[in-house]
Amino acid sequence: MTLDPIATVRSCFGGKFGIPRQPGLCPSAWGTLTFHPAYRSPEAIRGIEGFSHLWLIFGFHETVAQGWKPTVRPPRLGGNQRIGVFASRSTFRPNGLGLSLVRLEGIETTAADGPILQLGGLDLLDGTPIYDVKPYLSYAEALPEASGGFAEVALSRLPVEVDPAAARAFEALPARARAVLQEALSLDPRPATQVADPTRIFGATLCGCNVRFSIRDGVCRICEIELASVNDDTLAPPRPLE
Ligand code: SAM
Repeated sequence: MTLDPIATVRSCFGGKFGIPRQPGLCPSAWGTLTFHPAYRSPEAIRGIEGFSHLWLIFGFHETVAQGWKPTVRPPRLGGNQRIGVFASRSTFRPNGLGLSLVRLEGIETTAADGPILQLGGLDLLDGTPIYDVKPYLSYAEALPEASGGFAEVALSRLPVEVDPAAARAFEALPARARAVLQEALSLDPRPATQVADPTRIFGATLCGCNVRFSIRDGVCRICEIELASVNDDTLAPPRPLE
């Protein structure tokens, strides 16, 4: 059985670093899903507007070439305890497939390459190939009694501050982009192996900007924001839904 991508997601996450590790953790994140011509049909999505959330089955296209191993070291366990890859949501998997539950915020029908699905709360890199879209069935899939293994560890968030030097650029961003920066950075995206150096400056490409920040004494400080250079193959991310 071969898989043929049916669509491509454009998202506010221009690089892997800084993307939340699961959907919903950065609720303001946004993206669009554009079907490929062979699957682009208003008929094929008839009724989808009745669902608030969709499952996306996608490809970890940026890392799939790195292959997989039977065990992985989840960041949730500090990056030094190994567990089985099938007991994890690691990106390094035999077929490189991801599964994300995202919000359906709207459907753009007038564009030449429409219908385009407008999504929220996603954890996908800009340009991610999509292999299937399915509606979330809360009557069957909402399981409050489910147990979450090692992943049940409570998620902590950092306070995020903006240095005066970055304040003007930060305020110039659309409100939703400001929210994405704060939500995504509050999750502390640093790899467990890089948390020791409080002087280190990190960079992430978020909402079409190169955002530089440091994390010291439990506080994330945004120190510089500049518009990312946009060239032919890295188009600017879709505008956020207001
Ligand atoms: N919710 C999905 C799942 O459970 O299969 C993804 C979980 S995975 C831990 C989330 C991470 O995948 C993100 O933090 C980002 O670094 C990475 N990622 C997202 N899109 C990707 C892509 N197209 N290629 C490679 N890595 C990607």
